[in-house]
Amino acid sequence: MMEQVVLMKNKNNKKKFAYEPKFTERKDYRPEGVKETGLVFVGHEISEDRTVMNQFLHYDQLYTIRHGWNSKFFIGLLEGKIMGTRCPKCGDTWVPVRTHCWNLNCKLERTEWVEMPLTAKVHTWTVAGWSGRSSLKRLPIVLVYAIIGDSKVAIANELHGINPWDVEFGMPLKVVFKPKEQRVGAVTDFHFEPADGWKPSPMTEEKERIKKLVEPVYEWVKTLK
Ligand SMILES: [Zn+2]
Repeated sequence: MMEQVVLMKNKNNKKKFAYEPKFTERKDYRPEGVKETGLVFVGHEISEDRTVMNQFLHYDQLYTIRHGWNSKFFIGLLEGKIMGTRCPKCGDTWVPVRTHCWNLNCKLERTEWVEMPLTAKVHTWTVAGWSGRSSLKRLPIVLVYAIIGDSKVAIANELHGINPWDVEFGMPLKVVFKPKEQRVGAVTDFHFEPADGWKPSPMTEEKERIKKLVEPVYEWVKTLK
């Protein structure tokens, strides 16, 4: 499916190359009471010897992120689909998407949209034992770079439903979406889980080492209120 670049003329009869979207669907899920005041200095503090100053900047502003030609990826997430792009010349496929082929022989060929399978494999991973306050209780978090379908690039997301020491290179995964009403059209609308029927391999020295590092994190998280 090829996207068309529409050639339009504006009021001043100048040619415009961008397609002007007409937005017919809108959803606002800001929590109540959010005021968009912009960037405001709300205070400061100065050290006793007046050599160091901290300023407090309140960051409360509505931004509009236009996804442009990549929009179908994010709309796909709302629908529980992983959309990728594919070069019609060489067949290379990408998630995260690319708008034009990277192979020199294809001379920046524009890519086409394809729906990807909800299967993936681990390219690489890391285990987060420390993170921001909002995710402390979810530690340890397994972050993977996973290859969805036959994509030539990997996408980062969380891997749930596994002991952090049991993750393996190349292990098969499935894409699991949040319930429809909780999706916001962001990459966090889905996570990875081990493919059905996958079993971890027996313990090794390296797995024992990771287990020893990670187990205290579980104990520490239990103490958090
Ligand atoms: Zn190509």
